[in-house]
Amino acid sequence: MSNEPISGLRERERRRRRVNRIKKVIIGLISFWMIFSLTAIVILTISITAANKRIDNVERHNQADATGDSDSKKNDVDNNKDDNIGEDDEPTDDPIDDTGEDEPIDENAIKVYLTFDDGPSENTEKILDILKEYGVKATFFVIGKTDDYSKELYKRIVDEGHTIALHSYSHRYSSIYKSVEDYAKDLQKISDVVFDATGVRCKFIRFPGGSSNTVSAVSMKDIIKYVTEQGYVYFDWNVVNGDATAKNYTVDQLVDNVMKDVGKYQTNVVLMHDARAKTSTVEALPTIIEKILEKGYVILPIDDNTTPIQHIKVESVVTQ
Ligand SMILES: [Zn+2]
Repeated sequence: MSNEPISGLRERERRRRRVNRIKKVIIGLISFWMIFSLTAIVILTISITAANKRIDNVERHNQADATGDSDSKKNDVDNNKDDNIGEDDEPTDDPIDDTGEDEPIDENAIKVYLTFDDGPSENTEKILDILKEYGVKATFFVIGKTDDYSKELYKRIVDEGHTIALHSYSHRYSSIYKSVEDYAKDLQKISDVVFDATGVRCKFIRFPGGSSNTVSAVSMKDIIKYVTEQGYVYFDWNVVNGDATAKNYTVDQLVDNVMKDVGKYQTNVVLMHDARAKTSTVEALPTIIEKILEKGYVILPIDDNTTPIQHIKVESVVTQ
Protein backbone atom coordinates (compact mmCIF):
# COMPACT_ATOMS: atom_id res chain seq x y z
CA MET A 1 0.00 0.00 0.00
CA SER A 2 2.71 2.42 0.95
CA ASN A 3 4.17 1.84 -2.46
CA GLU A 4 1.05 2.91 -4.24
CA PRO A 5 1.43 6.14 -6.12
CA ILE A 6 -0.17 9.25 -4.58
CA SER A 7 -2.49 9.66 -7.58
CA GLY A 8 -3.76 6.10 -7.06
CA LEU A 9 -4.53 6.87 -3.44
CA ARG A 10 -6.41 10.05 -4.40
CA GLU A 11 -8.37 8.17 -6.99
CA ARG A 12 -9.35 5.54 -4.39
CA GLU A 13 -10.27 8.29 -1.94
CA ARG A 14 -12.46 10.01 -4.54
CA ARG A 15 -14.15 6.76 -5.38
CA ARG A 16 -14.72 6.02 -1.74
CA ARG A 17 -16.34 9.42 -1.26
CA ARG A 18 -18.45 8.98 -4.34
CA VAL A 19 -19.65 5.59 -3.09
CA ASN A 20 -20.40 7.13 0.30
CA ARG A 21 -22.38 9.94 -1.34
CA ILE A 22 -24.38 7.41 -3.35
CA LYS A 23 -24.96 5.36 -0.18
CA LYS A 24 -26.20 8.47 1.61
CA VAL A 25 -28.53 9.30 -1.23
CA ILE A 26 -29.88 5.75 -1.27
CA ILE A 27 -30.31 5.70 2.52
CA GLY A 28 -31.95 9.11 2.29
CA LEU A 29 -34.34 7.90 -0.39
CA ILE A 30 -35.18 4.77 1.55
CA SER A 31 -35.74 6.79 4.74
CA PHE A 32 -37.95 9.25 2.88
CA TRP A 33 -39.88 6.39 1.31
CA MET A 34 -40.35 4.70 4.68
CA ILE A 35 -41.51 7.89 6.38
CA PHE A 36 -43.81 8.61 3.47
CA SER A 37 -45.25 5.09 3.62
CA LEU A 38 -45.69 5.24 7.37
CA THR A 39 -47.44 8.59 7.11
CA ALA A 40 -49.65 7.23 4.38
CA ILE A 41 -50.49 4.20 6.50
CA VAL A 42 -51.32 6.37 9.49
CA ILE A 43 -53.51 8.67 7.39
CA LEU A 44 -55.24 5.72 5.75
CA THR A 45 -55.84 4.03 9.09
CA ILE A 46 -57.37 7.20 10.48
CA SER A 47 -59.55 7.60 7.38
CA ILE A 48 -60.67 3.99 7.50
CA THR A 49 -61.48 4.23 11.19
CA ALA A 50 -63.46 7.39 10.59
CA ALA A 51 -65.23 5.81 7.63
CA ASN A 52 -66.06 2.69 9.62
CA LYS A 53 -67.41 4.76 12.43
CA ARG A 54 -69.53 6.64 9.99
CA ILE A 55 -70.80 3.47 8.35
CA ASP A 56 -71.53 2.12 11.79
CA ASN A 57 -73.53 5.18 12.67
CA VAL A 58 -75.36 5.22 9.38
CA GLU A 59 -76.19 1.56 9.73
CA ARG A 60 -77.38 1.97 13.23
CA HIS A 61 -79.48 4.80 12.07
CA ASN A 62 -80.78 3.00 9.06
CA GLN A 63 -81.12 -0.49 10.31
CA ALA A 64 -81.43 -0.42 13.98
CA ASP A 65 -83.48 1.74 16.14
CA ALA A 66 -82.44 4.78 14.28
CA THR A 67 -84.68 4.28 11.28
CA GLY A 68 -86.64 1.68 9.51
CA ASP A 69 -84.38 -0.90 8.10
CA SER A 70 -83.85 -1.36 4.43
CA ASP A 71 -86.93 -3.47 4.19
CA SER A 72 -89.09 -0.62 5.21
CA LYS A 73 -88.54 1.02 1.89
CA LYS A 74 -91.73 -0.42 0.50
CA ASN A 75 -93.90 1.97 2.36
CA ASP A 76 -91.23 4.30 3.48
CA VAL A 77 -89.50 5.63 0.48
CA ASP A 78 -89.05 8.82 2.42
CA ASN A 79 -87.03 7.00 5.02
CA ASN A 80 -83.99 7.57 2.95
CA LYS A 81 -84.57 11.17 2.16
CA ASP A 82 -83.44 12.88 5.26
CA ASP A 83 -82.24 10.35 7.65
CA ASN A 84 -78.97 12.05 8.28
CA ILE A 85 -80.38 13.50 11.37
CA GLY A 86 -79.04 11.78 14.40
CA GLU A 87 -76.78 9.43 12.61
CA ASP A 88 -73.98 10.29 14.93
CA ASP A 89 -76.07 10.15 17.98
CA GLU A 90 -77.91 6.90 17.97
CA PRO A 91 -76.78 6.02 21.40
CA THR A 92 -78.55 3.11 22.78
CA ASP A 93 -78.58 0.04 20.63
CA ASP A 94 -75.23 -1.18 21.73
CA PRO A 95 -74.51 -0.36 25.29
CA ILE A 96 -76.36 -2.17 27.96
CA ASP A 97 -78.02 0.47 29.98
CA ASP A 98 -77.34 0.15 33.64
CA THR A 99 -80.23 2.34 34.59
CA GLY A 100 -82.62 0.02 32.84
CA GLU A 101 -83.10 -2.61 35.44
CA ASP A 102 -81.72 -2.86 38.90
CA GLU A 103 -83.75 -5.70 40.29
CA PRO A 104 -81.59 -8.21 42.05
CA ILE A 105 -81.93 -11.76 40.87
CA ASP A 106 -83.96 -13.65 43.41
CA GLU A 107 -85.48 -17.08 43.65
CA ASN A 108 -88.26 -16.18 41.24
CA ALA A 109 -87.88 -17.29 37.68
CA ILE A 110 -85.79 -15.04 35.55
CA LYS A 111 -87.92 -13.60 32.80
CA VAL A 112 -86.73 -13.03 29.27
CA TYR A 113 -88.65 -10.95 26.76
CA LEU A 114 -87.54 -11.42 23.18
CA THR A 115 -88.36 -8.26 21.25
CA PHE A 116 -88.16 -7.59 17.53
CA ASP A 117 -88.11 -4.07 16.15
CA ASP A 118 -88.74 -2.71 12.66
CA GLY A 119 -90.93 -5.47 11.27
CA PRO A 120 -92.86 -6.76 9.58
CA SER A 121 -90.32 -7.84 7.00
CA GLU A 122 -89.36 -10.72 4.77
CA ASN A 123 -88.05 -12.42 7.89
CA THR A 124 -91.16 -12.15 10.04
CA GLU A 125 -92.58 -15.46 8.91
CA LYS A 126 -89.32 -17.25 9.64
CA ILE A 127 -89.17 -15.68 13.09
CA LEU A 128 -92.77 -16.66 13.77
CA ASP A 129 -92.11 -20.21 12.59
CA ILE A 130 -89.15 -20.54 14.95
CA LEU A 131 -91.09 -19.13 17.89
CA LYS A 132 -93.90 -21.55 17.14
CA GLU A 133 -91.50 -24.46 16.93
CA TYR A 134 -90.21 -23.71 20.43
CA GLY A 135 -93.60 -22.73 21.77
CA VAL A 136 -92.41 -19.33 22.98
CA LYS A 137 -94.02 -15.93 22.64
CA ALA A 138 -92.26 -12.71 21.82
CA THR A 139 -93.00 -9.02 21.31
CA PHE A 140 -92.93 -7.21 17.97
CA PHE A 141 -92.48 -3.44 17.90
CA VAL A 142 -93.74 -2.80 14.42
CA ILE A 143 -93.46 -0.01 11.89
CA GLY A 144 -95.97 1.16 9.32
CA LYS A 145 -96.60 -0.97 6.26
CA THR A 146 -99.73 -0.96 4.21
CA ASP A 147 -99.30 -3.77 1.70
CA ASP A 148 -101.51 -6.81 2.11
CA TYR A 149 -98.66 -9.16 2.93
CA SER A 150 -97.55 -6.96 5.83
CA LYS A 151 -101.11 -6.68 7.07
CA GLU A 152 -101.29 -10.46 7.19
CA LEU A 153 -98.08 -10.50 9.17
CA TYR A 154 -99.42 -8.04 11.77
CA LYS A 155 -102.37 -10.37 12.08
CA ARG A 156 -100.31 -13.52 12.29
CA ILE A 157 -98.25 -11.98 15.10
CA VAL A 158 -101.45 -11.42 17.07
CA ASP A 159 -103.11 -14.69 16.12
CA GLU A 160 -100.14 -16.69 17.33
CA GLY A 161 -100.23 -15.10 20.75
CA HIS A 162 -97.36 -12.68 20.51
CA THR A 163 -97.57 -9.12 21.72
CA ILE A 164 -97.87 -6.58 18.98
CA ALA A 165 -96.52 -3.19 20.01
CA LEU A 166 -95.83 0.12 18.35
CA HIS A 167 -92.45 1.36 17.18
CA SER A 168 -93.22 4.10 14.68
CA TYR A 169 -95.10 4.54 11.44
CA SER A 170 -92.43 6.31 9.42
CA HIS A 171 -89.45 5.63 11.68
CA ARG A 172 -87.99 8.88 10.37
CA TYR A 173 -86.22 10.66 13.15
CA SER A 174 -86.29 13.96 11.35
CA SER A 175 -90.06 14.04 11.21
CA ILE A 176 -91.24 12.13 14.27
CA TYR A 177 -88.99 13.94 16.68
CA LYS A 178 -89.65 17.41 15.31
CA SER A 179 -92.27 18.11 17.94
CA VAL A 180 -94.53 16.30 20.37
CA GLU A 181 -97.36 16.84 17.89
CA ASP A 182 -95.40 15.21 15.08
CA TYR A 183 -94.52 12.29 17.32
CA ALA A 184 -98.16 11.98 18.38
CA LYS A 185 -99.36 11.95 14.77
CA ASP A 186 -96.92 9.26 13.78
CA LEU A 187 -97.83 7.15 16.79
CA GLN A 188 -101.53 7.46 16.06
CA LYS A 189 -100.88 6.47 12.47
CA ILE A 190 -99.09 3.23 13.34
CA SER A 191 -101.66 2.52 16.03
CA ASP A 192 -104.43 2.81 13.43
CA VAL A 193 -102.57 0.64 10.92
CA VAL A 194 -102.17 -2.13 13.49
CA PHE A 195 -105.74 -1.72 14.70
CA ASP A 196 -107.12 -1.96 11.17
CA ALA A 197 -105.12 -5.11 10.49
CA THR A 198 -105.59 -6.86 13.82
CA GLY A 199 -108.33 -5.22 15.85
CA VAL A 200 -105.79 -4.64 18.62
CA ARG A 201 -105.19 -1.23 20.17
CA CYS A 202 -101.59 -1.38 21.27
CA LYS A 203 -100.56 -0.16 24.66
CA PHE A 204 -96.86 -0.87 24.57
CA ILE A 205 -94.44 1.19 22.54
CA ARG A 206 -90.75 1.49 21.86
CA PHE A 207 -89.27 4.80 20.80
CA PRO A 208 -87.04 4.65 17.73
CA GLY A 209 -83.57 5.03 19.21
CA GLY A 210 -84.91 4.32 22.67
CA SER A 211 -86.09 6.75 25.32
CA SER A 212 -82.54 7.97 25.84
CA ASN A 213 -81.89 8.84 22.21
CA THR A 214 -80.16 12.16 21.77
CA VAL A 215 -81.37 12.85 18.27
CA SER A 216 -84.81 14.07 19.12
CA ALA A 217 -85.22 17.75 18.39
CA VAL A 218 -87.85 17.89 21.09
CA SER A 219 -87.12 16.81 24.64
CA MET A 220 -87.81 13.10 25.09
CA LYS A 221 -89.21 14.02 28.48
CA ASP A 222 -92.02 15.91 26.77
CA ILE A 223 -92.70 12.93 24.54
CA ILE A 224 -92.59 10.58 27.52
CA LYS A 225 -95.07 12.83 29.33
CA TYR A 226 -97.33 12.76 26.31
CA VAL A 227 -97.32 9.00 25.79
CA THR A 228 -97.79 8.36 29.49
CA GLU A 229 -100.80 10.66 29.58
CA GLN A 230 -102.16 8.70 26.64
CA GLY A 231 -101.86 5.49 28.63
CA TYR A 232 -98.91 4.00 26.76
CA VAL A 233 -96.09 2.13 28.45
CA TYR A 234 -92.73 2.35 26.73
CA PHE A 235 -90.01 -0.27 26.77
CA ASP A 236 -86.32 0.05 26.08
CA TRP A 237 -84.02 -2.96 26.53
CA ASN A 238 -81.19 -4.25 28.69
CA VAL A 239 -79.83 -7.05 26.50
CA VAL A 240 -78.89 -6.80 22.82
CA ASN A 241 -77.88 -9.32 20.22
CA GLY A 242 -75.90 -6.62 18.46
CA ASP A 243 -77.69 -6.84 15.15
CA ALA A 244 -78.14 -3.09 15.19
CA THR A 245 -74.47 -2.41 14.60
CA ALA A 246 -72.45 -2.53 11.43
CA LYS A 247 -70.22 -5.17 12.92
CA ASN A 248 -71.85 -7.96 10.96
CA TYR A 249 -71.71 -10.36 13.83
CA THR A 250 -71.67 -14.00 12.97
CA VAL A 251 -74.51 -16.18 14.14
CA ASP A 252 -72.36 -17.46 17.02
CA GLN A 253 -71.45 -13.94 18.05
CA LEU A 254 -75.10 -12.87 18.06
CA VAL A 255 -75.82 -15.81 20.35
CA ASP A 256 -72.88 -14.91 22.60
CA ASN A 257 -73.93 -11.26 22.74
CA VAL A 258 -77.29 -12.26 24.16
CA MET A 259 -76.02 -15.00 26.45
CA LYS A 260 -73.36 -12.83 28.07
CA ASP A 261 -76.03 -10.52 29.50
CA VAL A 262 -79.28 -12.41 29.61
CA GLY A 263 -80.07 -13.58 33.11
CA LYS A 264 -78.22 -10.71 34.76
CA TYR A 265 -81.55 -9.19 35.63
CA GLN A 266 -84.87 -10.37 36.91
CA THR A 267 -86.44 -8.91 33.80
CA ASN A 268 -84.39 -9.20 30.63
CA VAL A 269 -85.61 -7.41 27.54
CA VAL A 270 -83.64 -8.54 24.51
CA LEU A 271 -83.42 -6.16 21.55
CA MET A 272 -83.34 -7.77 18.12
CA HIS A 273 -84.48 -6.71 14.69
CA ASP A 274 -87.02 -8.11 12.31
CA ALA A 275 -85.72 -6.72 9.07
CA ARG A 276 -84.87 -8.05 5.66
CA ALA A 277 -81.13 -7.64 6.10
CA LYS A 278 -81.07 -9.34 9.49
CA THR A 279 -80.88 -12.91 8.32
CA SER A 280 -78.25 -13.76 10.93
CA THR A 281 -80.70 -12.73 13.61
CA VAL A 282 -83.09 -15.36 12.31
CA GLU A 283 -80.35 -17.96 12.12
CA ALA A 284 -79.22 -17.23 15.66
CA LEU A 285 -82.70 -17.32 17.13
CA PRO A 286 -83.14 -21.08 17.64
CA THR A 287 -79.86 -21.36 19.54
CA ILE A 288 -80.66 -18.29 21.62
CA ILE A 289 -84.02 -19.75 22.60
CA GLU A 290 -82.51 -23.14 23.37
CA LYS A 291 -79.78 -21.67 25.54
CA ILE A 292 -82.18 -19.41 27.43
CA LEU A 293 -84.51 -22.32 28.11
CA GLU A 294 -81.59 -24.54 29.12
CA LYS A 295 -80.75 -22.02 31.81
CA GLY A 296 -84.24 -22.34 33.19
CA TYR A 297 -85.30 -18.82 32.34
CA VAL A 298 -88.86 -18.11 31.27
CA ILE A 299 -89.52 -16.56 27.86
CA LEU A 300 -92.60 -14.35 27.84
CA PRO A 301 -94.35 -11.78 25.69
CA ILE A 302 -94.58 -8.29 27.16
CA ASP A 303 -97.83 -7.75 29.02
CA ASP A 304 -99.26 -5.72 31.87
CA ASN A 305 -97.21 -7.69 34.38
CA THR A 306 -93.90 -6.93 32.71
CA THR A 307 -91.60 -4.57 34.57
CA PRO A 308 -90.86 -1.84 32.06
CA ILE A 309 -87.20 -1.57 31.20
CA GLN A 310 -86.59 2.09 30.57
CA HIS A 311 -83.39 3.98 29.90
CA ILE A 312 -85.13 7.15 31.01
CA LYS A 313 -87.47 5.96 33.70
CA VAL A 314 -90.99 7.23 33.49
CA GLU A 315 -90.93 8.13 37.19
CA SER A 316 -88.12 10.55 36.52
CA VAL A 317 -90.37 12.45 34.14
CA VAL A 318 -93.91 12.02 35.30
CA THR A 319 -94.99 12.18 38.91
CA GLN A 320 -97.70 9.63 39.29
ZN1 LIG B 1 -86.22 0.71 14.93
